[in-house]
Amino acid sequence: MQQPDKATPVTILGAGIVGICTALSLLERGVPVILIDRGEPGQATSYGNAGVVSPWSLVPQAVPGIWRNIPKLMLGHGRPLSVHPKYALKILPWGARFLQQSSEERVRATSDAMANLCGPSIDLFTKHLTGTGHEGLLVDTMYLQLYRDGSKLTLDALDCRIRAEKGADMEVLGQDELSRLEPAVSADFKAGLLVKGTARVRAPGRLAAILAEKAARLGATFVKANIKRLQKSETGWTVQCEDGDHEAERIIMCLGVWSADLLPDIKHKVPLMSERGYHAEFSNPGIELNHSVMDADAKFIASSMEGGVRVAGHAEFAPPDAPPSKRRQKIFLRLAKAAFPDLQTGNVSLWTGCRPSFPDSLPMIDQLDEQPGLFLNFGHSHYGLMMSPASGELTAQLVCGDRPNVSLDGYSASRFDQNGA
Ligand SMILES: Cc1cc2nc3c(=O)[nH]c(=O)nc-3n(C[C@H](O)[C@H](O)[C@H](O)COP(=O)(O)OP(=O)(O)OC[C@H]3O[C@@H](n4cnc5c(N)ncnc54)[C@H](O)[C@@H]3O)c2cc1C
Repeated sequence: MQQPDKATPVTILGAGIVGICTALSLLERGVPVILIDRGEPGQATSYGNAGVVSPWSLVPQAVPGIWRNIPKLMLGHGRPLSVHPKYALKILPWGARFLQQSSEERVRATSDAMANLCGPSIDLFTKHLTGTGHEGLLVDTMYLQLYRDGSKLTLDALDCRIRAEKGADMEVLGQDELSRLEPAVSADFKAGLLVKGTARVRAPGRLAAILAEKAARLGATFVKANIKRLQKSETGWTVQCEDGDHEAERIIMCLGVWSADLLPDIKHKVPLMSERGYHAEFSNPGIELNHSVMDADAKFIASSMEGGVRVAGHAEFAPPDAPPSKRRQKIFLRLAKAAFPDLQTGNVSLWTGCRPSFPDSLPMIDQLDEQPGLFLNFGHSHYGLMMSPASGELTAQLVCGDRPNVSLDGYSASRFDQNGA
């Protein structure tokens, strides 16, 4: 069998956190890389997330009975779920696939695949940051889910059972314990689920920039260009950009939510959705949060970051280029104030970004027999920050012809084909 070439550069399309981590894993194996991105590294979706890095985020979005919650999510407290009119039809087949994923059997299978990506997240980020001088960007904290009505909160729920079976240390807290742990949260919250052994990033955009600098120091070349098309060539691929072509023997698709539009014709179904989220960052908040704090009713996560308190979340299925919803931005400000009554909301910046979401919450990590030299690593949905170092490792293993240390079946490009889940 021919050994994969480790001397010719691999071209990574997209320098979000996924592309950057993939680059680092290849560079560690002695493979040179070129990253092409139209923007600065890590400043699209990877800039504005909630910073949660947790080995225990291993329960997908589609869970048993989720269909019953959809009206509440669309119309209830804070209306965290919405569909843009332009996506009214597009959401239907995607939504049907999403619901198909929600049986306990599917959730358990997906959870195993999530565990392979989220499990090593803290160790791998620690390794990537070592020696950069910015090791403090990743802090050891806990994850706290807050509930106004704690009556249904139990460690017997399926999500808690799955986490516990995989070794998570969790505790249910009452109101007094909550206010001791996080004095800034509203007294409206009556109960909380504390997940220990998690971490958070204090500035996700800066983390990506620091890791991109590390990749550059290790020899990565960053090219700023707007990719228009990919075309098969005699020796591999032509990446057609606005200002000229780039030839590559091997390419890795890491364009996040923009990946599906730029894929060449492949025989597989790629039900990738743009699931937008919002953040509001309060630069002079007047409060400090000790952990990643989730308002489980309003579906957002708040934490103290370098730039202030950031409140991030919601799911708005909408075209990536649609203007941000002013209404949702207002709702966000109101929800943040309700959850943290002493929050000073005067200096605030608002942001919208697009999660690249498949119906099963897992990314595609694969190489395609019918398109030699094309590797896929995109679609990390709600978990792209924490999944990126492990998915970068797996992709590097594929490129180098190494035997992956876990099964890649759950991330395969064929999983949504006719008979797939
Ligand atoms: C509100 C919110 C909160 C979140 N919270 C968390 C969290 O707490 N923890 C977590 O793990 N995940 C979280 N996520 C998810 C996570 O942010 C994403 O899954 C992750 O950032 C995806 O990274 P990516 O590299 O695939 O995409 P991106 O960061 O979007 O990178 C894609 C890159 O492709 C480039 N690109 C696109 N098109 C072209 C083109 N034509 N030519 C050249 N370049 C192009 C873009 O410029 C961009 O740099 C959150 C997401 C949101 C929206």
